[in-house]
Parts: sequence; C-alpha cells; structure tokens
Amino acid sequence: MSLIQCEICGEKAVTICPRCYRYVCEKCFDVAMNYCVDCSRFKREEESDLVRSVKSMKKKVNFIRENLDRCFNCPLLKDEIMRFLYLVKSLEAKARLDSMEELENEILSLKEDVQKLGIEYLVKFRMRST
Ligand SMILES: [Zn+2]
Ligand SMILES: [Zn+2]
Repeated sequence: MSLIQCEICGEKAVTICPRCYRYVCEKCFDVAMNYCVDCSRFKREEESDLVRSVKSMKKKVNFIRENLDRCFNCPLLKDEIMRFLYLVKSLEAKARLDSMEELENEILSLKEDVQKLGIEYLVKFRMRST
C-alpha cells in the first residue's frame, strides 16, 4: 500500500504528473489531458490563448490577400509573410509537442492561407519584374 500522499489534496497518490512532477491521486488527475488538475487548467488556458492569436493572425493574412494589390507596395509585406511562416512553423511544433488538437487544426488552416499568400505574392512579384 502506498503511503505517498497527493500533493494537491492529501489523498492517496496513484501517479505523478508529467508536467509538474507532483504526486497526485486519481481525483486530482485529468485522464483526458494526462496532467494533474492544475496543469490541465493551465494547458487549456494556454491553448485557448494561442488559438485566439492564431485566429487573429488568420484574419490579418486574409486581409492582406484580399488587398494584395494595395499591400504589394508596402516594404514590410515580404517580412510579414516570412514572419507568418516562421510563427506557423514554431506554433505547429508546439501544438504537436503538447498534443493541442484544436490549436493544431487552427494552425493547419492558417498555414494554408499563409502559403497561398506566399504564392500569390511570388506570382505578382514575377509578373512585375518581367
Ligand atoms: Zn488529490
Ligand atoms: Zn501537474
């Protein structure tokens, strides 16, 4: 019989949270998230925070696509596209690592839009320089 106590509520601990490394009991472990209740709450908040940023990036990307003629002459446009591609890449890695499914789906849809924007930009760029 285990004498180790849950570090959240003091009941009999059955496992260790892989994120905070505390001993936790059945009641304080979120099986769906595979974390203790505290870490699960944190991860959910972090994920919805990131989903919010991805959604607003998507809006920005689509705004640029719709106004590409006007935005094309902006000297920051190329840097913006590169920055979006970089952000998508690093957020995608994070979503995979932390198995944040909703975030991953949002990122995949953003990635598609950013790639389309990149292609549209290149096509326009080539047309103007020839
Ligand atoms: Zn507990
Ligand atoms: Zn934890």
